Amino acid sequence: MINIMFIAPPAAGKGTQSDLVASKYNIPHISTGDILRDISMEDSELGSYVLETLSSGGLVKDEITYQLIEDRLKKSDCKNGYVIDGFPRSLEQAIEYDKILQRLNYSIDKVFLIEIDKDVLEKRVTGRRICENCKAIYNINSEESKPQIESICDVCGGNLYQRNDDNILAFNNRYELYTSKTEPIIKYYEDQKILYRIDGNKSIEEVFRQIDNIISEGDR
Ligand code: AMP
Repeated sequence: MINIMFIAPPAAGKGTQSDLVASKYNIPHISTGDILRDISMEDSELGSYVLETLSSGGLVKDEITYQLIEDRLKKSDCKNGYVIDGFPRSLEQAIEYDKILQRLNYSIDKVFLIEIDKDVLEKRVTGRRICENCKAIYNINSEESKPQIESICDVCGGNLYQRNDDNILAFNNRYELYTSKTEPIIKYYEDQKILYRIDGNKSIEEVFRQIDNIISEGDR
């Protein structure tokens, strides 16, 4: 079982790195953001609430997130491990996550904190594009990660779209929530000696190399 978690400010590349870890180790990538974006497209009261919250860059209510996470982690594909991205996002969520893990008899192996300069994030956030079909992530402002054909996914040919919270206004709100709510969990995992700091200012491959070196050290 390999149980990996990512903590990072918005647009730092945690989704991209989670995908790389998931595909190398053949485990699912669980992103609360992706789950919530799917719900936001539903024509229901919950869908409208989630859409409004995501668009503003705010956080979805804890009770909703807890239920979604526990239901997802109970699925059989998580039995050999998983990568979780976007949860927990606050100390309250981290404490609740420990309870969920206890109920499911899972434990966290490694928590990766991606550290990155705010001005780099601002540049990335406006260029991010996502495949509406397979959720592959691109960045049109970066030679390294732009799609070969504009607006078309290299992997599956699906259409690329821009997240409605990838604008400077919502980004500033998300960044403020990251520093006030999410950053306190860094110490929580540091105290448990499972936190690893990664320099996120480097290329996608270099960031992944740093992460993978640490994961594979644990296999030796
Ligand atoms: P992300 O894809 O991780 O950037 O998440 C996108 C958005 O989904 C966030 O800005 C929040 O609105 C919502 N979200 C994701 N994870 C959580 C969470 N753990 N708790 C509350 N809201 C969340």
